[in-house]
Amino acid sequence: MRGRDPVTDATPGPADSELQEILTQVHAQCAADRRGEVASYIPELASADPDHFGLALATVSGQLFTAGHAETPFTIQSVSKAFTYCLVNELLGPDELMRHVGVEPSGDAFNSIEFDPTTARPFNPMVNAGAITVVGLVYRELGDGAFEFILDRFSRAAGRRLDLDDAVYRSESETGHRNRAIAHLLKGIGVLGGPVDEVLDLYFRQCSIRVTATDLAWMSATLANLGMQPLKDDPVFDLMAVRDTQSVMYSCGMYNYSGNWGFRVGIPAKSGVGGGLVGVVNRQLGMAAYSPLLHATGNPVRGVAAFELLAEELGLHAFCCTKLGSSIFERFLR
Ligand code: GLU
Repeated sequence: MRGRDPVTDATPGPADSELQEILTQVHAQCAADRRGEVASYIPELASADPDHFGLALATVSGQLFTAGHAETPFTIQSVSKAFTYCLVNELLGPDELMRHVGVEPSGDAFNSIEFDPTTARPFNPMVNAGAITVVGLVYRELGDGAFEFILDRFSRAAGRRLDLDDAVYRSESETGHRNRAIAHLLKGIGVLGGPVDEVLDLYFRQCSIRVTATDLAWMSATLANLGMQPLKDDPVFDLMAVRDTQSVMYSCGMYNYSGNWGFRVGIPAKSGVGGGLVGVVNRQLGMAAYSPLLHATGNPVRGVAAFELLAEELGLHAFCCTKLGSSIFERFLR
């Protein structure tokens, strides 16, 4: 366990150790799962160690529980899309934002080159076309200051200064031809907020921000805590933007597995091809996993399995209807 705040946290009680035990058991249960492949279409990602597997839970009251490689650094990749959507929602307001990108699940792969036939806009901000549009809007608002704005807010949510993985950034800049094609199409339909090269550079940088599972747990706990970083009492995200972000994470955060995810796990979530996964249990908990072995949908295999077990064990599904399930997690809250 790391990151307890000496001011707000008391000595761990029995409920704390029970939650830690559940997390440790779930980690042990999923660690042996070798299914999936490490992403290699961004060459630098292929060097990730397939044995790495970390889990972290951060509560809105400032407690942290970890298992395995929770302090191992990796790049945030598409997990960033949820947080930048929250920021641009704050900058522009939801109505202006909706004119550029929708909130409809696409049922397509993360990198599909397809727009919503009704609106002629990207389906949602969680697929690449929507995320590049969102980043373009941050660029339109803040120009050269856009990356520092994103990095600063992500860092405040994580509770420590984050940085860029330069090797992954360069690797994706040199090989990201499909994203270049998407950005040119977005320019063509008039939703890209800046020049293609500048917007893509910002997108590749955002995806290459280095985090750990523990960082992601605090970032998602900040969403769960209605925008307030639990340890620092820092108002990082706008309240209404947090609501919109969780909604779109729930319906679209797991690519073309989103329907299954909502059904089986029932938690707003976002995955990334670097192996990261976050989940937000509103007003309770931020959850994170790191495991670079990916399913064909781009979601981390062990992370998905671990979240399923934790949701079941702790009664976290949004529509959990057993009395037992909904009361289990309350025991861990103070
Ligand atoms: N930077 C990656 C890309 O655009 C992010 C994809 C992902 O994590 O799903 O291809």
